[in-house]
Amino acid sequence: MADSGKVMRIAFGERILVITGPGDITREQTDAIVNAANSSLMGGGGVDGAIHRAGGSAILEACKEIVGRIGRLPAGQAVATPAGRLAARHVIHTVGPFWGGGKRGEPETLASCHRESIRIADELQLASIAFPAISTGAYGYPVDQAARIAVGSAVKALEKTTHVREVRFVLFDLHTFEHYANAARSLAATP
Ligand code: ADP
Repeated sequence: MADSGKVMRIAFGERILVITGPGDITREQTDAIVNAANSSLMGGGGVDGAIHRAGGSAILEACKEIVGRIGRLPAGQAVATPAGRLAARHVIHTVGPFWGGGKRGEPETLASCHRESIRIADELQLASIAFPAISTGAYGYPVDQAARIAVGSAVKALEKTTHVREVRFVLFDLHTFEHYANAARSLAATP
């Protein structure tokens, strides 16, 4: 699937934003992939289940250790674990907002997921990171709105990194890809 999808690349100075799909994030070869986790960090459905299945038990073991240390992960925050059998070296787990109509701080929480994940990747001195469409599945965030927030906050964070040079969005279906590609196009067109 990853080989037959569409790819859009936009350069921001020396940094690059890549929007691609349909694609499976578990096959990405970026230094880190981001997991749309839930606060328990114990795995779940959707992309979370796919990442744990493909990466193996090393990811869950590391998640258990983190929860033992800091407790449940609040929405908008992020933590890193090894990536087990995945091609990526790290999984950055972040908890997206559950859509409750848009007036419960959902946009700020979703922006924080992207900002925090990129900050952690930069702290780990990684060059590339791949995101799925956080919150747009089981958490019900309207995909057009999520795309604008996700791409906007990722590019803003990318402009300030020391090590991260590439942010990719790997979208599971064409419909989601089109929304993220449109959001990236409008952002690039805005002076
Ligand atoms: P959330 O609970 O944050 O909404 P989901 O996993 O339910 O997370 O959905 C988030 C997005 O991830 C959806 O667009 C879903 O289609 C997509 N997705 C599911 N599996 C994968 C995968 N293997 N690679 C990339 N995206 C995926």
